[in-house]
Amino acid sequence: MMKIGIVGGGTSGLLSALALEKMGHDVTVIEKNKVGGLCRSEYIDGYTVDIGVHAITMLNDGPLIRLLKKYAKYIPNFRPYGDYYVRLDKLYSIPISMQEWTSTSIIPNRDKVLVISKMIDLMTSGFSKDTSVYDVIKDMNLSKVSIDFFNTICYFLSGEDMKKTPLWRLFTGAGYIPEDDILPFIYYEDLKINPLKTVLFKKIRGEKIKKILKDGFLYSIKNESKKYLSKFIKRPKYWTQGYPLGGVQSICNSILYSLDRTEIIEGEKVVEISQYREDEKNPGYIIYTQDNSYYCDVVIYSAPSKFLPDITDIPEIQEREDKLRSIKFTKSLTVWIGYDENPLPYLGSEIWIDHPCWATCVTNYDKSLAPPGKHLLGFSFVNTKKKESLSIIENKLNIDIDKAHMIHFQECVPEQASCVVGQYFVYPKIRDDFYVVGTDADPRSMGITRAAYSVEVMLSEFERSLLKK
Ligand SMILES: Cc1cc2nc3c(=O)[nH]c(=O)nc-3n(C[C@H](O)[C@H](O)[C@H](O)COP(=O)(O)OP(=O)(O)OC[C@H]3O[C@@H](n4cnc5c(N)ncnc54)[C@H](O)[C@@H]3O)c2cc1C
Repeated sequence: MMKIGIVGGGTSGLLSALALEKMGHDVTVIEKNKVGGLCRSEYIDGYTVDIGVHAITMLNDGPLIRLLKKYAKYIPNFRPYGDYYVRLDKLYSIPISMQEWTSTSIIPNRDKVLVISKMIDLMTSGFSKDTSVYDVIKDMNLSKVSIDFFNTICYFLSGEDMKKTPLWRLFTGAGYIPEDDILPFIYYEDLKINPLKTVLFKKIRGEKIKKILKDGFLYSIKNESKKYLSKFIKRPKYWTQGYPLGGVQSICNSILYSLDRTEIIEGEKVVEISQYREDEKNPGYIIYTQDNSYYCDVVIYSAPSKFLPDITDIPEIQEREDKLRSIKFTKSLTVWIGYDENPLPYLGSEIWIDHPCWATCVTNYDKSLAPPGKHLLGFSFVNTKKKESLSIIENKLNIDIDKAHMIHFQECVPEQASCVVGQYFVYPKIRDDFYVVGTDADPRSMGITRAAYSVEVMLSEFERSLLKK
């Protein structure tokens, strides 16, 4: 049995605690605010308000459900998410498959033909890891509505505009390229350090990983083009998204309820992590907060990795100092409104492309999130100020904000690393007894699912290191 100290109690910290406790270890979670992190809901004037507007991805076969099935006492109930729309003069479904692209009225006919042939061309000839969406679009002479459309999709997939969004993110987000296929390229820098010693090596197989490391991204895209094209032609099986009844707090609650022995410390910020023995094989760590110190054999760090070089001087972190510090994250503004009428009366959500915003009515999934007869509307904006956001909502939905029963603002960083060109994602294993989890430790999917992916990689590496002992 190991003594494990987990820094940060968000989705990734709590999922790590759950799995490691069930594997028989003695776990302590140290959280500077409240456990749950961004996977929490707050009670505001009778409304249950999530931190940010959420749709949970990959519910059929993704890492969150795999981990909960294996370790939790129950799995929250999810309602199927519905569809995604763009609001222009009316609502239009977002095109995914080639056929939907052919028939969409969001963009002009000339642009549709150009976009479809460009996608086929890119899938068959390949593109580099650092190709941005803008690199491809800039010479196509597309209309403003098409450019605004792609720009907004980029904001929601990567946290940044099309100049900073890698093309692979658009293709994985649409489901044309499976998330796993992208993994070796993104961890490339860390894999180069020692590719043979990672769980990825086992997953991708020897010959293939050697080719990938030699020829890079282009090789793989070309090689798999048939598979990608068929996903573009048929609608990819991608719509396995849902919203948890009771709000995102329900996911956090299912993990907390399933923990039997884990000690949870809230309201203590970790300020330093140091080794306390000289023994290289068994160093042991002290995790210091402002008030206390905690001894452990293994550290799982789930707070933003960007700040790791400030709090620990272990060489493996200091070697990565520049990369870690350069990790970029994006801020978002969410506005929650409690209202009598429901201007978004359908399952799913919509995006606005002139002022990038993602809007949904969560009481369509669960009426209990609002007082009887009221509706709870959520709007997540990028690059928008509070006051401006309210007038955009009023104009777009033709509602009177003065009649709102509740208005609540949240300014958050949705993921610990935005998915931009050149972004560094740290590989979860730092040492046999020091790991990093969270949305900056895996590039796949989004938010909660991404956090869960990083926990799966950490657990495989941790189990492998135990076998070595
Ligand atoms: C507007 C918005 C929209 C979103 N939409 C979606 C969505 O549609 N789908 C989806 O899946 N996800 C979505 N998310 C993101 C998702 O909620 C998060 O990515 C996920 O919960 C992150 O989990 P995490 O454990 O990696 O990080 P966090 O939840 O950020 O947890 C890290 C924890 O570490 C703590 N911490 C930090 N520093 C220290 C320290 N020094 N000492 C101790 N504790 C520390 C923090 O307080 C925090 O609780 C959205 C988020 C926002 C804000």
